[in-house]
Amino acid sequence: SITVGVLALQGDVREHVRALTQLGVRTAAVRRVSELATVDGLVIPGGESTTMDKLLHLFDLADPLRARIAAGMPVFGSCAGMIMLADRVVGGIEGQRTLGGLDVTVVRNAFGRQVDSFEEDLHVPALRDGATHPVRAVFIRAPWVEQAGPDVQVLATVTSRKVGAVRHVVALRQGNLLATAFHPEVGGDVRFHEYFVNMVRSAAGCAPGGEVRAR
Ligand code: GLN
Repeated sequence: SITVGVLALQGDVREHVRALTQLGVRTAAVRRVSELATVDGLVIPGGESTTMDKLLHLFDLADPLRARIAAGMPVFGSCAGMIMLADRVVGGIEGQRTLGGLDVTVVRNAFGRQVDSFEEDLHVPALRDGATHPVRAVFIRAPWVEQAGPDVQVLATVTSRKVGAVRHVVALRQGNLLATAFHPEVGGDVRFHEYFVNMVRSAAGCAPGGEVRAR
């Protein structure tokens, strides 16, 4: 069976571990290269992308992680994790690096400051029951996707309160990479984790039919 790692340098690691555990999946905290080698997929949690970038390099994890991503390991980034997976960042600090892999430009803190955090019901047809049951999404100093390349599959959009009726991409998939601008690990709806675990299972060559389902 599979092991899903959670990058545990910084951010809301525990919430992701809880969501994965709820799905009956074995988890592992990843802080070193040796731990990265034991996992079949990795969650990059929400937190602070500038700090995460510094710690990734301090722990010599950035290049090994890039190599695993290039080799097809499924990775799910939420919020700061989405920023880490983006090829291009607007509004980053001087010298801020990402791991990349997603052919997108993300705008950091796009929805405003901490006080502009909000929740919204999102239509996400790709998820189980997604066409009929919306996902309650929690946005905390969240980024949005400003531009996406042709290989990006849009999973959900939101209408910003700041920019009137313009819809922004806030959940997407590109091959082995999944990203959400919000925090599906908060609030008890584990369908994004379920979707991700099934990505990890199929990448690991698990037999079809045994898909993970939330209880
Ligand atoms: N604003 C944060 C960043 O730029 C992300 C916020 C979050 O992960 N909740 O990294």
